[in-house]
Amino acid sequence: MKFDYCPVCGDKLIPKQIGDEGDVPFCEKCGRPFFPFSYPCVICLCIAEDGDVLLIKQSYGISRYVCVAGYIKAGENAEDCARREIAEETGLEMLSATFLYSRYYEKHDNLMLAFACRVRKAETKLSGEVSEAAWFTPEAAEKALFQGAYGIDMLHKWQEIKGNAL
Ligand SMILES: [Zn+2]
Repeated sequence: MKFDYCPVCGDKLIPKQIGDEGDVPFCEKCGRPFFPFSYPCVICLCIAEDGDVLLIKQSYGISRYVCVAGYIKAGENAEDCARREIAEETGLEMLSATFLYSRYYEKHDNLMLAFACRVRKAETKLSGEVSEAAWFTPEAAEKALFQGAYGIDMLHKWQEIKGNAL
């Protein structure tokens, strides 16, 4: 996201040299820069105590298994966003979150923050955005995810580090 106009007062922004950042869009009226940014969001590999992985199908778009994901709200910590999205979409309680990696997703200008989230296994309560949720062993989850899905990378990363995490 790049600003041409000030999101506060609407004035045209001018490039201004700021430290090592080079030219940054600046509002002279408000006296502040508006740095370009990518929308941050979380993607959560939900794992129960027994190692099973929860995947969901969204109500909109292509019907395939994906991980819980969502946009971070202004002022929200990434871990709190993960806890909120998991609760909203599946009704499950997140017990802890381990950061896996971040990845820029150009199509939607998102910075994806990937977490392995320990959740308490329980009956799911799905939001209107979710049509289905199911538990899989890690091996079955890898098969259920589509080729190239973030969830597959996340499973691999989780398998690498899980001895030392959570
Ligand atoms: Zn302004």
